[in-house]
Amino acid sequence: MNSPREVPSGRPVLLRGGTVLTMDDARTVLHETDVLVVDDRIARVGSGPAVPEGTVEIEARGGIVMPGMVDTHRHMWQTAMRGYGADWTLAQYFVWYYLEHGRHFRPQDVHAGNTLAALEALEAGVTTVVDWSHGLSTPEHADAAADALLGSPGRYVLAYGNIHQAPAEWTGTPEFRAFVERHRGNDRLGLQVAFDVTGDPDFPERPAFEVARELGLAVTTHAGVWGATGDNGVKLMHENGFMTPETIYVHGASLSEDSYQRIAATGGSVSVSTESEQSAGQGYPPTWRLRAHDIPVSLSMDSSVWWSGDLFSAMRSTLGADRSRQHLEAQSRGETVTHSALRAPQVVEWATRGGARALGRDDLGQVVPGAKADLVLLRNDDSPVSFPLLNPYGHVVFQAQRGDVHTVLVDGRVVKHEHRLVGVDLASVRRRSEETVEHLRSTVGEEAWQAGMNPDIPESKVLDNPYTYTEFRDASTRGR
Ligand SMILES: [Zn+2]
Repeated sequence: MNSPREVPSGRPVLLRGGTVLTMDDARTVLHETDVLVVDDRIARVGSGPAVPEGTVEIEARGGIVMPGMVDTHRHMWQTAMRGYGADWTLAQYFVWYYLEHGRHFRPQDVHAGNTLAALEALEAGVTTVVDWSHGLSTPEHADAAADALLGSPGRYVLAYGNIHQAPAEWTGTPEFRAFVERHRGNDRLGLQVAFDVTGDPDFPERPAFEVARELGLAVTTHAGVWGATGDNGVKLMHENGFMTPETIYVHGASLSEDSYQRIAATGGSVSVSTESEQSAGQGYPPTWRLRAHDIPVSLSMDSSVWWSGDLFSAMRSTLGADRSRQHLEAQSRGETVTHSALRAPQVVEWATRGGARALGRDDLGQVVPGAKADLVLLRNDDSPVSFPLLNPYGHVVFQAQRGDVHTVLVDGRVVKHEHRLVGVDLASVRRRSEETVEHLRSTVGEEAWQAGMNPDIPESKVLDNPYTYTEFRDASTRGR
């Protein structure tokens, strides 16, 4: 056995002696345990007879081996605008992308964004991403999105969408069908149909649902977004028979009891993007309500235009938001929470197996023999945060971060090793992202580009600030 920096592909891999979060039904944690990968599968968990000839050994002692994380909703095409909208609300996002500038994205810009997002995900241990690709305004854009994903070493689901046309229009084209047939059956590139349901009583989205059903594709839809989509859309979907177990409802905030019951009754799942919901305004991150209805949850990052593409952040913020709500609700009744309802193992499951389940992939999201070898090793010997390792789930959620991702495997292939992506020409990815930024910037114009990144701050003051003494008069000014 050997352990070269660049792991040759096609060789068996042994992750030696780590703490393994199997994410099996009992959420079994195994200590000092080997995980053997042969071809694209996990061949063995635990010690056993000699490993196959030529096995590459990767030291996992002191580290955590867990399933690759699954992000069920990310607008990868926007990634070259990383961080641009950090101070946006959802309204400002809609204006920029839907109304004013989204059309400026060329096929090569979609390609650049997808490629960058794909690497960003792998680097952070996210091995499967649903690319919620709603900027596919022409077949060339769609080809660019697919080419970028096929050229990246992760696992993806291309959720085909187009915000510039009615869903009934673009799903009805021969080009869309041809695209689906061309890419059908690829284990590393699944397909979904992505569009939103406005709640228009005429239900203009019906033909799009019918096409998805005919093609056997799941629909993913932003449902429960304050000011955009809500109960009326859910009701229309339900009454017309389009709510299925494969349906993924994104955000699922700002919904009534009735909608949650319809989702629970039809078996769909909700993709929660806590970082997004907390600052954009879709509604309070809904896990506290989803739990009450036993609705399956997966996690997602939405868009790197605002937030991190990092499911460690998703787990952390989701646990925080859920507990925050629990305390707030109890304290509003004069009560004290003595036990947290949402626990670290649950959010780790949502980030791994929950996503796999939402995608109908029983072979992902677990470290068990026979499962696909999509694996993450967290190990950072140089970090004082890597020890002591007392509570592995708590460690993943509140202590670990993307810099601790030592090794990542997808489909049995080592794509990150010793903290570095394997075989990636990052300079060329950077160059192509910069070309996209240059194109957008010059098309939008410098003034609008700067203004877009720095939205106005509302001038009104709602409450007295106790530290601006000169403006304070008395308590009667409060609330004006
Ligand atoms: Zn979204």
